[in-house]
Amino acid sequence: MTDPILIVGAGQAGLKAAETLRQKGYDGDLVLFGDEAFLPYQRPPLSKAYLKGEMDEERLFLRPDAYFETASVELRTRTSVAAVDPAARSIGLSDGTRLAYSALLLATGTRARRIPLEGAGLDGVFSLRTMADVAAIRDALAVAENVVILGGGYIGMEFAAVAAGLAKSVTVIEARRRVMERSVAPEISTYFQTLHRAHGVTLRLEQKVERLTGETSVTGVALCDGTQVPADLVLMAVGAVPVTELAQSAGLAVGNGITVDAHARTSAPEIYAAGDCTEFPSARYGRSIRLESVQNAIDQAKVAAGSMLGETQAYDPVPWFWSDQYDAKLQIAGLSSGYDRTELEGDYDAGRFALKYFLGDRLLAVDTVNAPRDHMLARKALARTHPDGAQTPENGDREAAA
Ligand code: FAD
Repeated sequence: MTDPILIVGAGQAGLKAAETLRQKGYDGDLVLFGDEAFLPYQRPPLSKAYLKGEMDEERLFLRPDAYFETASVELRTRTSVAAVDPAARSIGLSDGTRLAYSALLLATGTRARRIPLEGAGLDGVFSLRTMADVAAIRDALAVAENVVILGGGYIGMEFAAVAAGLAKSVTVIEARRRVMERSVAPEISTYFQTLHRAHGVTLRLEQKVERLTGETSVTGVALCDGTQVPADLVLMAVGAVPVTELAQSAGLAVGNGITVDAHARTSAPEIYAAGDCTEFPSARYGRSIRLESVQNAIDQAKVAAGSMLGETQAYDPVPWFWSDQYDAKLQIAGLSSGYDRTELEGDYDAGRFALKYFLGDRLLAVDTVNAPRDHMLARKALARTHPDGAQTPENGDREAAA
């Protein structure tokens, strides 16, 4: 009997790989290990509808419990994989059990970045990555008056929108000049800053945090400019780091994520990786990239599953992403870094527009606000054209995950 295929990480990528293996006819043993307590679930609603209480738990789960029995996928939740031995082709669990594999997928995702600030361990200071985080945050949010968010990225701004909707006093502290600066142009940041301010959110831009204050629970945030912002709930929303320890201790190549090739193969035979935890070569963008998105988790996991079964499809996606803040849906197609000009189409003041990013004549990316059709058209256009102008075939199927 051949050894099973093992998947470490029961998130968006791990589950998609398991599903794809079954869809493609793999009928051997298949085990999916997850160290969380839940069925595999989608994370985007954790800072949107689920956080607001507008979505129940069942809808968060990517598949019902019954799926795993029907598809013969052995799901082992609350089980942490502690070691990988590439030479022996086996993994070790934290209880000492060893299991051999015929192929292994690492889909270990990211964890929330924590900044080692004085006061970071006080009660009332949270990160937002898991269902368990949301359970804790919800209780605190119900009674909080002053919510302070460290970091004006997507998760921070989505959390600000939810908290403002609950009539909390909300302050966002951002070290950069504008919110979401790392990924969008000034026009988009300005649009969302205006929207947040109209909902009563205070934005403290170009501000650094010195420490969090309080005895056992947080009571305030001390800024480097000497000011003090009162707080009874602080969200640290300062990015995420790829979970690479398993790969690293197994001697696999790791850069800004587990290094894989276009077929999701790591540097060790029969070990693959997919999702947030990987760094992969993008022929489209001419460099290695690491993406944190549902699109990437799904599409790279499909390619990894195919590679495990001997297929040769290469992964070179048009990345796409979305963020919901109040009634505004921001959708991003492509990667805009390196652009030298933008073009605005549509009605900016009415909140329905597209912003196109160009490098010379080459379209690199398109951000849309409340213009889903333009977003879909942009994805198609970008899939047809490399940034260097070369034509490529259509880029496979894309699952709408929003
Ligand atoms: P994950 O979903 O992180 O899954 C990895 C799993 O592996 C985790 O459960 C982890 O606990 C487990 N694991 C790690 N190590 C081990 C081990 N040794 N043993 C066992 N299990 C292990 N993306 C979008 O495209 N649009 C959005 O609007 C959006 N919103 C988001 C909002 C929030 C609050 C968050 C947190 C993320 C959001 N994302 C969004 C990002 C998206 O959710 C991720 O890109 C996606 O979940 C990545 O899937 P993954 O399977 O790679 O990793």
